[in-house]
Amino acid sequence: MVLNALPDPVFLLTEDAFYAGLFGHSDPGYYHDGHGLVGSSLYEVLPKDVADWIMEKVHLSLHQERLIKVEYPLSAQQVKGLEDKTGPDGMIWFEGHIQPFPNLIEGKKAVIWVARNITQRKLLQDELLHATQTDPLTGLYNRRKLMETLQEHFAEFQRYGHTLSLIMFDIDHFKQLNDTFGHLQGDAVLQSLSQLCNPLLRANDLLARFGGEEFVILLPSTHRQDAFITAERIRTSIEQQLAQVVGMSNPITISVGISELTSADTSMKALIDRADRALYQAKNSGRNRTVSL
Ligand code: GH3
Ligand code: MG
Ligand code: MG
Repeated sequence: MVLNALPDPVFLLTEDAFYAGLFGHSDPGYYHDGHGLVGSSLYEVLPKDVADWIMEKVHLSLHQERLIKVEYPLSAQQVKGLEDKTGPDGMIWFEGHIQPFPNLIEGKKAVIWVARNITQRKLLQDELLHATQTDPLTGLYNRRKLMETLQEHFAEFQRYGHTLSLIMFDIDHFKQLNDTFGHLQGDAVLQSLSQLCNPLLRANDLLARFGGEEFVILLPSTHRQDAFITAERIRTSIEQQLAQVVGMSNPITISVGISELTSADTSMKALIDRADRALYQAKNSGRNRTVSL
């Protein structure tokens, strides 16, 4: 029968949450054999929140009389009766196409739900997203991700008045370090610096490599007095530990500029410019210090 030869599973689900039929899918490299589910209620075999979510889509498709497309993760371990079947391990990403079935099934409305395994595509999408958001040398977020996140926070600031601060810092005399010890050693300094900073931050703080040897930290819901304390903690940790970590004898230091968003700021550019000016002042007044504007 043609239906059973389809490469992807096609479920027939009734409006009262029963598996009324299952066709297609025989390749265990992509799918577990779910034919044993037919006749069961979704609520007997799936966690309640998953069944609720599926039924919400079923009813939406029936109510609006149209095709609904969704993406969702599901593993065989979550489905009673599939645990021991051969099929892919772990979480599988599915693309679901849900369409009202033209006939009633034992007097009940139903939908056709096609579930295609899109795990490989999903992993590739995740990899691409990661690549567009991070810096390959340090693994930190890059400037693009920082700017996007700043934009989101600015919109929140305008709506709810949630403040935030920026810490911008730049390694002192880094050109000289490169010239003396070589570019590879310079790279190692950038990597170790990133690792040193991360544990000093809160989960919601976002540390990004802004440019060559310049970094920015976005601190949500933080006034500049508190950002100053964080900045000083980072500055002193780098001064005390970084050189030793990379096997150098003279301390490596940074200069730091801080700014906080104010209601006079019409864009994030104003905040970045202020942090940049503060950093410039820190450089001009002797380096290895923090200035807040
Ligand atoms: P200052 O104290 O005023 O900041 O002096 P500086 O020498 O640190 O400043 P400058 O901007 O003149 O030099 C920055 C140097 O950073 C120049 C550039 O070669 C180096 N740099 C930028 N990106 C990288 C990188 O990815 N790896 C390495 N090793 N060096 C980099
Ligand atoms: Mg520098
Ligand atoms: Mg610089």
